[in-house]
Amino acid sequence: MKLLNEKSKQGRSSFNVGLLDIQTNIPDDLQRTELNLPELPEVEVVRHYTNLSNSNFGVDNGLYPLGSCTMKYNPKINEIAANISQFNLHPLSHHNRGTLEIIYQLQQYLCEITGMHAFSTQPAAGAHGELTGIMIMKAWFEKRGEQRTKVIIPDSCHGTNPASVSLCRFEPVHVKSSSSGGVDLEDLRQKMSRDVVGIMITNPNTLGIFDENIQEITQTIHDYGGLCYLDGANMNPMLGVVKPGDFGIDIMHLNLHKTFSTPHGGGGPGSGPVGVVKDLEPFLPNPRISMKKEKLEFEQSEDSIGRVHSFYGNFGILLRAYSYIRSIGASGLRNIAENAVLNANYMKEKLKKHYHLPYDRICQHELVIDDSLMPNGVTTNDIAKRLMDFGFHPPTIYFPLIVKGAMLIEPTETETKENLDAFVDAMKAIKEEAENEPEKLTKAPLNASIGRLDIVRAARKPKLTWFT
Ligand SMILES: *Cc1c(COP(=O)(O)O)cnc(C)c1O
Repeated sequence: MKLLNEKSKQGRSSFNVGLLDIQTNIPDDLQRTELNLPELPEVEVVRHYTNLSNSNFGVDNGLYPLGSCTMKYNPKINEIAANISQFNLHPLSHHNRGTLEIIYQLQQYLCEITGMHAFSTQPAAGAHGELTGIMIMKAWFEKRGEQRTKVIIPDSCHGTNPASVSLCRFEPVHVKSSSSGGVDLEDLRQKMSRDVVGIMITNPNTLGIFDENIQEITQTIHDYGGLCYLDGANMNPMLGVVKPGDFGIDIMHLNLHKTFSTPHGGGGPGSGPVGVVKDLEPFLPNPRISMKKEKLEFEQSEDSIGRVHSFYGNFGILLRAYSYIRSIGASGLRNIAENAVLNANYMKEKLKKHYHLPYDRICQHELVIDDSLMPNGVTTNDIAKRLMDFGFHPPTIYFPLIVKGAMLIEPTETETKENLDAFVDAMKAIKEEAENEPEKLTKAPLNASIGRLDIVRAARKPKLTWFT
């Protein structure tokens, strides 16, 4: 597709942007003498952007089973809520009591959903929530005068977990997964000591498995005085069913942009609120909004780790989450969890007739298959590319790292049975192609606007500008 610059013809501009004749303090040699904007009629500009949007793929186009990312459909009413003009205020404005009330109430809902005591909505992403959480753990031990250095992380974890731990100058220590996909308790016990700050655990983990030993795991950490952090990016299958506070979690983040209705995937703003138990509340980022005698007040705590974001985070996303929770209610939340789990298990049972299932047990919101049964050298990468020809976004591939050739599939609760069946049919057709016409797979995608990319070259020598 040609760029606007390439389509431009001099004199075709729909309107004129002249250089203004005004006095400025900008030195002469730094001032523009000409302005080379593309010149096109309005209709060409409209067509350009419409065609560009059509060559994108999103949840509004079709199934997007990108495991661990929860690419579910976000009801449009929450977009409308985020656009309410009365909320479009500068955060320093004096008229924002309604805004503060929304944040306060959302924090209360998140406490109720997770069993935590208090939340801060400041962190702007899951990884930012993790960092905030580890900073709180650090502040907790500093206050107690304890020098601890290690954070335990299961080997199935998301890559951001060890990164957040290292950023706080702690040492990430991996524990193995057991043959059933949970934490290997023996390995955990061997790695425990009074050097351990705590654990950063994902449950359900990135294999889509709920660790049935979770209470034993958190108890083991607590026995050594450590803290238990939950990477709560996978909250979708637990909504209204399980509260992490009930299985021994002291501190956690949520990904509002995954679980609570904000479109994501384009690198736009996110929100990763952090919740804590009562003892850790004084360490949450400053300032906090609290209710005193039925009045909202700002609170500054001396023990706080300080500010991690301007004001209270990305407000538009908080508004979407608030609207989502209010519009579906408690029973709606539970419905989400139940259907997310049902859809994933339905797909798992259908797919295991054609693909290898490394952990053949009930899963939560997502499932893992791998390419070990594929004939003629066909790999997970080939399958992912070919799925695009069938009109689906590929699943997460080669993650989690502990499964060779992994495909992590998260159908989400917002897909119909027909859509799930169509995806399974495509996977079955791909398996048959691998047996009969494998070259179709190794060359895929065949119908996309760009063919197979040299991903190494694209990563090492990216061409990021049109101008040469
Ligand atoms: C998405 C995800 C994260 C990171 O969240 P971001 O908002 O992308 O920073 C962390 N852990 C898990 C398990 C995730 O799925």
